Amino acid sequence: MSTVHFSKDVAKVTDLFSAAGLDKLIKPGEEIPLKIHFGEPGNTAYLKPARVRPIVELIAKLGGKPFFTDCNTLYNGLRHLTKTHLEVAREHGFSPVIIPAEEDQTAIPVSLKHFKTVHIGGTIARAKTLIALTHFKGHEVSGFGGVLKNLGMGCGSRLGKLRMHQDCKNCPEVKTCRKNQTLEACWIGSPELVQEKIVEYAYGAVKDKKAGYVTFITDVSPACDCYPKNDPPIVPDIGVLASLDPVAIDQAAVDLVNKAAGRDIFREIYPEADWDIQLNYAEEIGLGSRKYELVLK
Ligand code: SF4
Repeated sequence: MSTVHFSKDVAKVTDLFSAAGLDKLIKPGEEIPLKIHFGEPGNTAYLKPARVRPIVELIAKLGGKPFFTDCNTLYNGLRHLTKTHLEVAREHGFSPVIIPAEEDQTAIPVSLKHFKTVHIGGTIARAKTLIALTHFKGHEVSGFGGVLKNLGMGCGSRLGKLRMHQDCKNCPEVKTCRKNQTLEACWIGSPELVQEKIVEYAYGAVKDKKAGYVTFITDVSPACDCYPKNDPPIVPDIGVLASLDPVAIDQAAVDLVNKAAGRDIFREIYPEADWDIQLNYAEEIGLGSRKYELVLK
């Protein structure tokens, strides 16, 4: 059983960070990437810099060199190219930010069911330590978007994101399609397939790394932060979580949201996306545990 630390008060995030042992991951002088989603222009639900600033200050106080990072999107938009992605991050108030160049990716061996290697953005692949700062919300493919989604889809390079979304074996377009050469967006994979692929990428993103996770259950929008708009939250703000286990923290977050909603609200919004799949598969491949103890602060 894993431990997940929780507070209703988001101002206690640094207390949770230390209580969960994330402070022990920080080595003086080491660069610490903070994996975050900078929010599509027009979206207002994404995790704001003011929420995560105390974590940046704590890591700096511990001697680490924190910076925000994300990888470019597969679909066209301002976050598709490094230059304009950086502009979005700065426009949304984040600093310092490093986003790997479009061609900067590392193939990491995983030897799992769907992938022998996963293609991770170079900035994250090269880091020895990773802290994922996650905005918990709904998602049309994974039911909810939590740490596994932030790590898996979020840390994939554009090639990686294409690999996660496609299902060429079962696609009628396969004979004429050139997306494997052009790296254009493809949305063919089923929720089951894409969730398992996301989990394999999450596994690769933190393989051989020290990693810690902080999840904010605030502004819980029904859809992901990649949309240039967002609907009102599906539940009132719930609080913040911290853990060393990416599976347990996602399980705790979905349990807290569904408890607040009084029903499985993610399954209600996205009946086609069985969110259990990502958690079951992540547990199966040893990424973490669905069983957790919630420690209240
Ligand atoms: S549309 Fe997508 S799934 Fe179909 S062949 Fe092209 S890349 Fe593969």
